[in-house]
Amino acid sequence: MCRCLCAASRLIREQSRHASVMLVLAAAIVCYSAPAAYPWAGEHHRITDVAFAALPSEEQEYLRAERSILVECYCTFPDINWPCYGQWGSGTGDPRAPRMPDTRRLWEVSFYTGWDPVLQKGKGYPHAPPQSWEAAEVSFLRAAHALREGRLEDGCRYLGVMLHYIQDSGSMPHVQPIHRNFHVKATEAIRLEGYAPRLLGKTAEEASQNLSARVRELTEWTEQRLGGLFESVGVPIEDTKRLSARQLMAPAVIEAVTRLQTEKPAELEAAATDCANQCARACADAIHSALAFAQKPYVPPEPNPPDVNLVFNPSLENGEDDDCPAGWVVNWLDMLDRVGRAAWYRAGTHWEKHVRTGNRSLLILWPPKKGLQWQQTWPRAIRVRPGEKYRGSVWGKAAATEGPSHLALELAGTDYRPVLTAKSDPLAANGQWQRLSIETLVPESARWLRVVLHAEGGQGAAWYDDVEVLRIP
Ligand SMILES: [Zn+2]
Repeated sequence: MCRCLCAASRLIREQSRHASVMLVLAAAIVCYSAPAAYPWAGEHHRITDVAFAALPSEEQEYLRAERSILVECYCTFPDINWPCYGQWGSGTGDPRAPRMPDTRRLWEVSFYTGWDPVLQKGKGYPHAPPQSWEAAEVSFLRAAHALREGRLEDGCRYLGVMLHYIQDSGSMPHVQPIHRNFHVKATEAIRLEGYAPRLLGKTAEEASQNLSARVRELTEWTEQRLGGLFESVGVPIEDTKRLSARQLMAPAVIEAVTRLQTEKPAELEAAATDCANQCARACADAIHSALAFAQKPYVPPEPNPPDVNLVFNPSLENGEDDDCPAGWVVNWLDMLDRVGRAAWYRAGTHWEKHVRTGNRSLLILWPPKKGLQWQQTWPRAIRVRPGEKYRGSVWGKAAATEGPSHLALELAGTDYRPVLTAKSDPLAANGQWQRLSIETLVPESARWLRVVLHAEGGQGAAWYDDVEVLRIP
């Protein structure tokens, strides 16, 4: 069972409590952690971090640029692969609740998990055994393949998916009443000292199959660890599994867990801590093994060629999703705004076509005062180097707007947080196509450049088409 479902059902119960809604929102803004209401929530981050720290130092160095985002974000990918991202109602459909940021598209999470819940494409894996064992195997292979090709970021994103499935496999997701209450309050107790990660195979295929077996052992280990506790309240672990297979929240199991919580809280937390540490060992083995197949030494991408448009899908013509062109995502700066729309505009049959070339453009309609934006997804951001110079440009047209509509180049560091945002002059709201352009020098700490197309002010419409970013020699 996936913990996001648990989280969602829990949130429905709590929907009147605004605080929890805001918590989800805050947690989802950049992708980061799920709130404490989720089973195995902060533990995902902590286990990933601890597993990472157990790697030999040269392996830590290899992954250094992506470490913080792997810990904060990638290891939660399977839990944020939901269509509610970008929608109203904080995942519960509550019309009073704010909009969810579109974290799923921002990171192209569905691509990395292999299942798109909107397009209904690919293959999804439940977060519980036995499917979670297979999911770990599949994502291990994807990670090893990407790392072998020197695609460090892709490799780390697949590693994040893999780590998540390993961690879920060790949190009793097949016995939901325990899974939903499986927490380590003292997360510093999750730690590996002196653990030397094991190599799981000589080839990526062999290692992936052994990983699946390793994760199966992990699940069996957790069952053994909890066996005595359940025995002590009169329900053998085999019975909890059998009952949970028939009914998600079997009353007899709920009762056993409630007794454990009230009668033996310290023992229950100790068991959860042990399981988390066992997960961390399996995670360390898995990352260590995937790195065995990585390109060595890592060769960073060549500098971008000058005078070549570096923007993916620059004319916004391509994409399978009805809502967004490939590589682009909406960023709402006011999550409570009920008016503004950001649409993937399609030229109709009428002679007034709001496209500069082709059939499609990006539209921002009635943008709120705080602003509404189209921006590039992170996997389509442009890798840049400090000291390089870039020129961004876009064709835009604004009609009846009351606030500035502009192009921005956002430069972000390895943590994917902006370090500098350069803004162009605004469009004149005269309904004519105009070219906006801006130049920027990449500062020392920046690694990524993204195009942001902005509008604000409460009124009117702005269209953007034909985006270009060039490196200036
Ligand atoms: Zn999960």
